[in-house]
Amino acid sequence: MKKYLLIAVLFLTFSLQAQKVKKIEPPFWWTNMNHNQLELLIYGDDIASYKPSIENKNIIITGVKKTENSHYLFLDLDISKAQVGTFKINFSKKGKKNNFSVNYKLKQRSKNSKFRKGFNSSDVVYLLMPDRFANGDVTNDSSKYTFEKANRKLKGGRHGGDIQGIINHLDYIKQLGATAIWSTPLLEDNQSVYSYHGYAITNPYKIDPRYGTNELYKNLVEKAHKKGIKLIMDYVTNHWGSNNWIIKDLPTYSWIHQFPNFQRSNYRMSTQFDSHASKIDAKLCMDGWFDKTMPDLNQSNPLVLKYLIQNAIWWIEYANLDGLRVDTYSYNNKEGIAKWTKAIMDEYPNFNIVGEVWMHNQAAISYWQKDSKIGAIESYNSYLPSVMDFTLHDAITAMFNQENTSWDNGMIKAYNNFANDYLYPNSNNMLVFAENHDTQRINEIFNGDINKYKLAITLIATVRGIPQLYYGSEIGMRGNKNNGDGAIRKDFPGGWQKDTNDAFTNLGRTTKQNEYFNFTSKLLNWRKTSEVIHTGKTTHYIPENNVYVYFRYNEKKSVMIVINNNPKEQTIPLNRFAENLKKYTSGIDILTDTKLDLSKSDLTISGKTALVIELKK
Ligand code: CA
Repeated sequence: MKKYLLIAVLFLTFSLQAQKVKKIEPPFWWTNMNHNQLELLIYGDDIASYKPSIENKNIIITGVKKTENSHYLFLDLDISKAQVGTFKINFSKKGKKNNFSVNYKLKQRSKNSKFRKGFNSSDVVYLLMPDRFANGDVTNDSSKYTFEKANRKLKGGRHGGDIQGIINHLDYIKQLGATAIWSTPLLEDNQSVYSYHGYAITNPYKIDPRYGTNELYKNLVEKAHKKGIKLIMDYVTNHWGSNNWIIKDLPTYSWIHQFPNFQRSNYRMSTQFDSHASKIDAKLCMDGWFDKTMPDLNQSNPLVLKYLIQNAIWWIEYANLDGLRVDTYSYNNKEGIAKWTKAIMDEYPNFNIVGEVWMHNQAAISYWQKDSKIGAIESYNSYLPSVMDFTLHDAITAMFNQENTSWDNGMIKAYNNFANDYLYPNSNNMLVFAENHDTQRINEIFNGDINKYKLAITLIATVRGIPQLYYGSEIGMRGNKNNGDGAIRKDFPGGWQKDTNDAFTNLGRTTKQNEYFNFTSKLLNWRKTSEVIHTGKTTHYIPENNVYVYFRYNEKKSVMIVINNNPKEQTIPLNRFAENLKKYTSGIDILTDTKLDLSKSDLTISGKTALVIELKK
């Protein structure tokens, strides 16, 4: 009996001591990382009263940081000489009986991790919202660990879509011709209501159980890679959800920006570089909260910054990611977000990160791209490789409905957009899109006119940059943002078991849906192998009568794109394009597989039609 009693006492003591550390983050790390000065967040009752030590000559404690909250201890480690394996962190304080230790693991890094190549202009990005795309596992629609339960009837509710749903439809995405998936956030968002969008993260190291598990996410990336599809994680540095476990027990007052009363951001991002801006406006833009349930993280606090850097690197390394999309990039502390971005790019020099910089003029967008001359005016460098072409978005959403030509209406809007490319350090590393999960759906703007859809998709698939689609538009999905965000984030038809319309398959799609899908798929699959579109130069010609003509070319190939936004048939004289047509006398329109004679004096094109002509000598 005595023996059993002793074991029981030992077991009890052990589990009590183990409970003294409730969390360590990051939960594990790797050897041979560029980021080898690790900072562990250690969380537990009264943990700050312990003295940590490590008996491993290759792992050096370089700092122990305490805050005003005794539940936290931040342990700085130099692991530059560390070996793969598990080491013990000992915690001691007066009275030996309190001493205990926890294990920490350093894993073997996969061989090519450092050299991972991010998404680029050879890719087409497919943006989806996981809750609204496909429900591959009905058993996880609600979870006992999370507050909000599934309710498909609510526009702003959880509908049950998940990671398994994405895995089940990788072939659909591949068939469409997309080569990368940007899923809106998949991490735990355990807010009590309106949590499906995922931007109020409550556990930065955990996939939301309603989407699956960390392992399943890793599995998704692996399966996608096998089909030639990259994965871009939607990362939020600016804010967390108010139910985030760290927010509920703040390590330090300055972890977030705090105000006597709720203070919303003024969202005026121009204050970040406006030399006339008042200090208070600039401060409230950056430090104000994005929303009541989204406390604003303070990236100028080194503890917060380090936490966010390590969390992002952890996900890239753990899940084998191909890119990040950073939410509300320009609302972050400017210097902090630049350090964050640089740390990730230092770890993965060939990686790509695209930031959401939702602004409406090119100089303002350019300011946020790496090595921008606009940023350099005030010695700012964000180190952010890719930005979003919001001004092109603005043009696309207006010009295809403009049929009467005037000085600045119609295709001239696209022309003017690209005319300002000189402002960008790298215009080919920009996301090119007509819509996303926050904007009006294009098929709504086009009032269901497929010809306008075709013009818009042809444009984004053939200009410089990285095209990005938004799920559902490729089958003609509509929905009016004026009726709330739920209207532009409807469930993809066929993603739920009882759906009568399965738009994931050729046979399940309606004739109209197939017309949308087949056009998009043909164009994008052609683009996939057209290097000249990925990296070629551009020459464009001033639009006349709402017809925009541009060429994409390199030393070997040339493609002539003609976008006739005029509802009437147009005849264009070809001699105007002599500097690009050169010795080319014919071409194939890849959209219709029609051979065109370019030795004639002119070319006729139907109203509201585009031609994508591969030139032949
Ligand atoms: Ca589900």
